[in-house]
Amino acid sequence: GSTIGILGTGQLGRMLAAAAAKLGFRVETYGPEISPPAAQLANEHHAADYTDIESLRAFAHRIDAATFEFENIPPETVRTLIEEGVPVRPDERILAVCQDRVPEKKFLREHGFATAPFADIQTAEDLEKAVAEIGPEGILKTRRFGYDGKGQVRIRPGMDLGAAFAELNAPSIYEGLVEFDAEVSLIAARSVSGDIRFFDMPHNDHSGGILRISTVPANLPIEAEEAKSSVCHLLEALDYVGVMTVEFFWSKSRGLIANEIAPRVHNSGHWTHEACAVSQFEQHIRAVAGWPLGDPVRHSDAVMANLIGMDAEEWAMLAEDPALAITLYGKSEARAGRKMGHTVKIFPKS
Ligand code: ATP
Ligand code: MG
Ligand code: MG
Repeated sequence: GSTIGILGTGQLGRMLAAAAAKLGFRVETYGPEISPPAAQLANEHHAADYTDIESLRAFAHRIDAATFEFENIPPETVRTLIEEGVPVRPDERILAVCQDRVPEKKFLREHGFATAPFADIQTAEDLEKAVAEIGPEGILKTRRFGYDGKGQVRIRPGMDLGAAFAELNAPSIYEGLVEFDAEVSLIAARSVSGDIRFFDMPHNDHSGGILRISTVPANLPIEAEEAKSSVCHLLEALDYVGVMTVEFFWSKSRGLIANEIAPRVHNSGHWTHEACAVSQFEQHIRAVAGWPLGDPVRHSDAVMANLIGMDAEEWAMLAEDPALAITLYGKSEARAGRKMGHTVKIFPKS
């Protein structure tokens, strides 16, 4: 059989590894940690830095196709594997877009999406100027490396902007606050042959910058046709292969406003494992392997809830509910704000 290589070793890599094994592939993971969540389900794990050329070449020679489970893999890492003859799906073009919030927002606008008003912030003076132009309600975010709301400062009228900038002290983006009725996401997949499929849009509840709950159907009067066709153009422009997620704000008056792109399977799509014929994880592996896409049809309604910072005793309580599907990520240490697992409850389709 052939072997799929996964760069990055968190829970998304773990669930991708499980899906690949289910389809009969061998799985090898690569990342700097010794025993991360994804490695526990892989046939083999290579604990080495993403920039370690020798280790990367050895990895390339052991695998037939590769993918990544998070967007902060150095583009050169992907390039190295491709130069060694391994198809990496998607390839590094999307990383240049997704690793930095400024080009990401520009890219979204170029592809026809509305976004929050934004400005590039290099200094405290830039922030003063941006707040004067865009308005005093907004969010200052580091351009790179933010996730789960980390590296963000909420800006309010009358705030000390110098202190706010000093808190991040890094190249940042200032975004005007979007007033929304709901947050939703579009989870798409594109195959090597160019076929594109969408999962149903979940309604996503965040608090403290972290996703808590995703619900399908969203039960909102969303007109998504234009956003879907923009996603198709975006996927085609990059000859993108694999699952891609676009996060949106939605309001009754303004429709869909794009927030950010995740070039991968997404937390708001975990319910697809229990509620769809083919999950986002299987869909991604199908695309990476050059297979035809599966049918993303949803056979059930579903509610996905993240388990954040909970410890083992609390999980035992969850098992008391026989209808709750539990997924745990094999992380030994429960820290505040850390995603430890999730649950999915399915219901007959309404
Ligand atoms: P993720 O874990 O999804 O990658 P992140 O750290 O990259 O998160 P964002 O998705 O930019 O951060 O923001 C996290 C949440 O903060 C959003 O889902 C939304 O609830 C809120 N938020 C972010 N930007 C804005 C904005 N411009 N206006 C209103 N709310 C916002
Ligand atoms: Mg993000
Ligand atoms: Mg986000």
